[in-house]
Amino acid sequence: MRSLVWFRNDLRVSDNTAMHNAFDHAGASCVALHVICPGDYVRHDTAPYRVEFILRTLAVLSADLKKLNIPLLIRVAPTHRDVPQIVAQVVREVKADRVLANREYEVNESRRDEAVSAVLVRQGTKFTTFTDTVAICPTELRTGAGGPYTVFTPFKRAWIKRFDERGGAPVLPAPRRQADTGISGDKVPDRVEGFSSAVAADLWPAGEHAAMARLRTFSDRSLRSYKARRDFPSADGTSAISPYLACGAVSSRTCLALAMEANAGRLDDKGPGGEGAATWVSEIIWREFYKSIVHHFPRVCMGRAFKPETDAIRWEDNPAHLQAWKDGRTGVPIVDAAMRQLSATGWMHNRARMIVAMFLSKDLFLNWRHGEKHFMLNLIDGDLASNNGGWQWSASTGTDAAPYFRIFNPISQSRNFDPDGAYIRRWVPELSGIEGAAIHAPHDEDDGLPPIARMKLDYPRPIVDRAKVRDRVMAAFQGLKPRA
Ligand SMILES: Cc1cc2nc3c(=O)[nH]c(=O)nc-3n(C[C@H](O)[C@H](O)[C@H](O)COP(=O)(O)OP(=O)(O)OC[C@H]3O[C@@H](n4cnc5c(N)ncnc54)[C@H](O)[C@@H]3O)c2cc1C
Repeated sequence: MRSLVWFRNDLRVSDNTAMHNAFDHAGASCVALHVICPGDYVRHDTAPYRVEFILRTLAVLSADLKKLNIPLLIRVAPTHRDVPQIVAQVVREVKADRVLANREYEVNESRRDEAVSAVLVRQGTKFTTFTDTVAICPTELRTGAGGPYTVFTPFKRAWIKRFDERGGAPVLPAPRRQADTGISGDKVPDRVEGFSSAVAADLWPAGEHAAMARLRTFSDRSLRSYKARRDFPSADGTSAISPYLACGAVSSRTCLALAMEANAGRLDDKGPGGEGAATWVSEIIWREFYKSIVHHFPRVCMGRAFKPETDAIRWEDNPAHLQAWKDGRTGVPIVDAAMRQLSATGWMHNRARMIVAMFLSKDLFLNWRHGEKHFMLNLIDGDLASNNGGWQWSASTGTDAAPYFRIFNPISQSRNFDPDGAYIRRWVPELSGIEGAAIHAPHDEDDGLPPIARMKLDYPRPIVDRAKVRDRVMAAFQGLKPRA
C-alpha cells in the first residue's frame, strides 16, 4: 500500500495525523507532496514574509523526511483550480493507492478538497482527511440545542469535557525510516516570484525543531508567569509560537501536552503551572474556537460580519487615516509602536493587536476589513480564523465580541500595559528621549511635554479627536436590530 501524504498547513513530521496514518498497514510506503499555489497566496493576502517562512519550513521538513527515506515532491499550481489535476497527476506518477491529508476548515480550502476528492475518485483513488489542525474537531462539539457554540466560555467548557472524555489528545509518534522508494525528492525553492520581504529571516528560525525549542524555553521559563506577564508588550511573556502553529511546524496537541507536562497532567490552575498554565491552555482553546467559527459560519471567510446586522454600518472612508495607521504615524505612541513592530518583525504582541484593531475600528471608525487585510499582508502568523476572529471581536461585529460601548482608550491602555514606555521607546525612536509618563501622549496639553518641547517634537499630533469617538460609535451601533 503506497500513500501520498499531501502536506498543507501541517509542515512537520512529528505528531502529524495524516503522516501517522500513512503507516497503518504492514509494509506501507509513503511519498510526500506539497503544492505551492501563488494564486492562493494572492487570493488570501498571504504576507510575503510568511511565504518565505513557509519555504524555509518546507526545507526543514524535506530534510527530516529524507532521513526517513520519504521523498518530498514539490509542485507549483498557478491557481487553486489547477490543484486537483496536479494532485491526481502525482498520484499516477508515484503509483499511490491513496491520498492522506490533514483537514483545513476555511471555505476555499474545503471547496478545494472537495474538488480534489472528486477528481481522485474518478481515477479510483481514495482521499482521506484527518482532524489535526485542532485537537478537537469542530463537529464534535454541539450545544444542548444541537447547534455550534458562538460564545467562548461554554465552548471552552464543552471542549474540556470532550478532551477529558477522549482521554486527552495524545501526541503521535514520528514514523520510522522506511525502505527506499526509488523516488527522489524535489529541491524546495528559495523564493516564490512576487513574494519577497525585507524582514530579516533570522528573526524567526524555521521548522519543527525551532518550534520545539521555543516551546520548551517558554514552558521552562515563562509558562508559570504567563497570566501575570502576557499583557505587557515589552515583556517576553508569551510563547511567540503562533508562526509555527499557523504553518503547522508544531501541533496544538503538542502545545497542550507540553503545558500539561509542566502542570502535573492538568489543564486547569490546580497543578504546579498554576494560573499561568491554565490561561495559556485557554488561549490555545481560543484558537480552536475561531477554527470552529470558520467551519460553522463560512460567511466570515467571505468578508461578511459574524453579526449580519453590522454589515449595514457605514464606516468612514478616509484613506489618509488608513495610511497613517499602516505607517505607524497616527500620533498615538502605543498604536504607532505596535504598527512599526509589525512592519519590522512580521509579528505583533496580542495586547498591541487588540489596541490597534480597536483604534482602527472605533477611534478612526474605519472598516475593520481594511485592518484584517493589512494584518494578513504583513503577519508571519497570518491565520484567517484567528485574524478574522480578533478583528471582528475588536470591531464588535463578531462572535463573543467586545460590546460596542466598551471602547479602549489607547492612552489608558498604554499607561496600563506599557507603564514605563519601554515598548514605545523601542519602536518609535523619535520618542525615545522622552522621560516619564509624557511618553504616552506627548502632545497632550495636560499630561504631555511642556509647550516648547512639544513644538520641537518630530512626531505627529494625534490624527483623531478622542472626545468625538464615543458619540460616533454609539450612533452607528445603537439602532442596529440583531438578525439571525
Ligand atoms: C486583531 C487581531 C488579529 C489577530 N490575528 C492573528 C493571526 O492572524 N494569527 C494568529 O495566530 N493569531 C492572531 N491573533 C491572536 C493573537 O494575537 C496571537 O495568536 C498571539 O499574539 C500570538 O502570540 P503568541 O504565540 O506569543 O501567543 P501566546 O499568548 O503564547 O498564546 C499561545 C497560542 O494561543 C493562540 N492564541 C493566543 N491568543 C489568541 C487569540 N486571541 N485568538 C486565537 N488564538 C490565540 C495562538 O495560537 C498562540 O500562538 C489576533 C488577535 C487580534 C486581536
